[in-house]
Amino acid sequence: MSDQSTLSTPSTAAAGGLPLTGQVWMNGRLVPMEEASVSVLDHGLLYGDGCFEGIRVYNNKIFKLRTHLERLHSSAELLHLNPPYSLDELEKAVRETVAANGISDGYIRLIYTRGIGTLGLNPFTCGTPQTIIIAATISLYPESLYEEGMPIIVASRPRIPIACLDPRIKGLNYLNNILAKVEALGADVYEALMLNCDGDVSECTGDNIFFVKNNHITTPHTDAGILHGITRQFVIDEVAPALGYTVEERRVELDELKSADEIFLTGTAAEIIGVSHLDETQLSGGQVGPVTNALSTEFRRLVHEDAPED
Ligand code: PMP
Repeated sequence: MSDQSTLSTPSTAAAGGLPLTGQVWMNGRLVPMEEASVSVLDHGLLYGDGCFEGIRVYNNKIFKLRTHLERLHSSAELLHLNPPYSLDELEKAVRETVAANGISDGYIRLIYTRGIGTLGLNPFTCGTPQTIIIAATISLYPESLYEEGMPIIVASRPRIPIACLDPRIKGLNYLNNILAKVEALGADVYEALMLNCDGDVSECTGDNIFFVKNNHITTPHTDAGILHGITRQFVIDEVAPALGYTVEERRVELDELKSADEIFLTGTAAEIIGVSHLDETQLSGGQVGPVTNALSTEFRRLVHEDAPED
């Protein structure tokens, strides 16, 4: 992971590592990156209609590939989008793209767009969904923040409630999160915590959230209206238990976070990152706490050494 901290502030930091060369898999074949494009009539562009996955490659292994493919197809089903490929075909295509780009440690973006349609909203005017696979590298946050802890703010805007949009859909439209991210960047930090419409803790704009109090780890229940994060589940099922912790999933209030010993975030791109400040509140002396550090170390060990692909 490259360190951009000396060169950039949150609002100017580069998105990280997308090569201008390389091969993109589109609808069944590899094409040069500069030729890979979608139509202006694709509803993915017109309406953010589609779904996607971000997937890590560690040490030549595609981390939780099948779980990501299943979540993609579950998103597609919830969107009434008929996937043009089976899970097996997609898996083969992802592996082919990673190999074609010589990626041994990196990041895959797998996308279904609704496809080309008319200018109206009706998704059923669209032809075949477009399938796009990009294999590149990513550096979401500067490496120094993993050591020092990352300050975050509480966004003023709530997360879209479950009743309006099922958060199990990892959809192409991230405007709710982007506007909260803009609030974060305006406060000169990288991430913002979003509360749900009940005022409870949900998740950050691109990461799930956990806290530690008296050596006990807690994370908001999925009922809080969060993406069912694959890293979150990995921490609950594998990383925390490997260190003797069980993670409690329940309703979480903002005040509990403010009096927590530690807070950390999880995500495919973020991995595990400790939070040093939540607004003005300092966590674990403004550093990464010991439980977060232990989980991070175990996480890195598992993904690099032990973890099977699924
Ligand atoms: N919440 C949101 C809103 C996200 O976009 C993501 C993925 N970037 C996550 C949580 C983390 O999910 P995962 O661990 O599956 O990457």
